[in-house]
Amino acid sequence: MPSPACIDSLWLPYTQMATAPSPLPVVRAEGVRLRLADGRELIDGISSWWTMCHGYGHPHIKQAVAAQLDTLSHVMFAGLVHEPALTLARRLAALLPGKLERVFFSESGSVAVEVALKMAVQYWRNRGEQRNKFIAFRNGYHGDTLGALSVTDPGCGFHDALAGYRMPQVFTDLPRDAATCAALDELLSNRNIAAVIVEPRVQGAGGMRFHNAETLQAIRAACDAQGVLMIADEIMTGFGRTGTLFASPPEAVPDIICLSKALTGGTLPLAATVAADHVFAAFCSERAEDAFMHGPTFMANPLACAAANASLDLFESEPRLQQVAAIETQLKRELEPCLALPGVVDVRVMGAIGVVQLDRPVAANLRPAFAERGVWVRPFGDIVYLAPPFVIDDADLTSLTTAVCEVVAESASQAPCPISTP
Ligand SMILES: *Cc1c(COP(=O)(O)O)cnc(C)c1O
Repeated sequence: MPSPACIDSLWLPYTQMATAPSPLPVVRAEGVRLRLADGRELIDGISSWWTMCHGYGHPHIKQAVAAQLDTLSHVMFAGLVHEPALTLARRLAALLPGKLERVFFSESGSVAVEVALKMAVQYWRNRGEQRNKFIAFRNGYHGDTLGALSVTDPGCGFHDALAGYRMPQVFTDLPRDAATCAALDELLSNRNIAAVIVEPRVQGAGGMRFHNAETLQAIRAACDAQGVLMIADEIMTGFGRTGTLFASPPEAVPDIICLSKALTGGTLPLAATVAADHVFAAFCSERAEDAFMHGPTFMANPLACAAANASLDLFESEPRLQQVAAIETQLKRELEPCLALPGVVDVRVMGAIGVVQLDRPVAANLRPAFAERGVWVRPFGDIVYLAPPFVIDDADLTSLTTAVCEVVAESASQAPCPISTP
């Protein structure tokens, strides 16, 4: 472990630097294992914030990035294009449901959300309407930049310090019954709503909370009734995590979808905001001011696009979704016993996400216990969860679930601590 002096120049995320324990230095990663500087190995139970779906250092992705590095590592994306981006855009359009066909690249999830929000507002402006307010859901998380955090539920423990510093938005409950559906309809009937933004099937950083496809159908129907845009934030759920390639069901295809995390198989930063044909059409006219004014310097970076194309190859050539189904079965079987432990209020599993929810926020206190057991798990809020790489084998997954059950069993004696973030 480094002394705090070793990280003197670093400012870590979501961290009270004055009191946080020293972070663990990683020197290598392969498959599902992180190698630490002191030689220890940890099985990664959360896939580096849900990105590393094929495991670390997959040879096919490494090869694709190396080959790309030889020919074109970067080029600006205005007035110039390149084959890796074009191929990736076409492949994404073909894989995505409905008419989601126009791909705008950026370099992080938060920026993909910013782009989606800006697109929605300008979509209305280009059509001659002023609509600048968003509907977002309680426990939703959409990123840390100012626009994305405006639609992130402040109740999740993110950005309390910036409360009040937000774009126009209103939070409501996900529509699960007559009352919550009516509440959403009522909000949507306001003329100033530009879009509704939702994380399909799983609200990730807001506590790994699940909802069913009917909820998304209700949102789609409510948006259709008022002609309002629906934005799906699939930054966490995209690329297999919930058991299907995308979490949005065919009956609730959004008008705009945001992708990032597992897009490059976790190899390089890349994000995409994909708009449906009718959204794109509102930006095409004789008027220069109808154009979309956004252009991240590193958008569509060729190395990242090559990694993403190679990642999509692997979804075609290796049985990823079957692996996710097998992980789901094993997580259910091996986490279920936690329900009997004191302080556990819920155990839930969807795809390659397994969650044990506690009766109070103790998660941050539990973090050190995992590395001691040879696994990397980072509980937050009131949950201990697993989201392993899809290539994990049965034995390694059992090591993860065993560690979760043991640490949760010990948690009953822990005092509550402040809400922690992922
Ligand atoms: C991680 C995440 C984001 C933000 O992505 P960054 O790359 O961290 O900016 C946005 N939305 C969801 C659902 C996420 O899980």
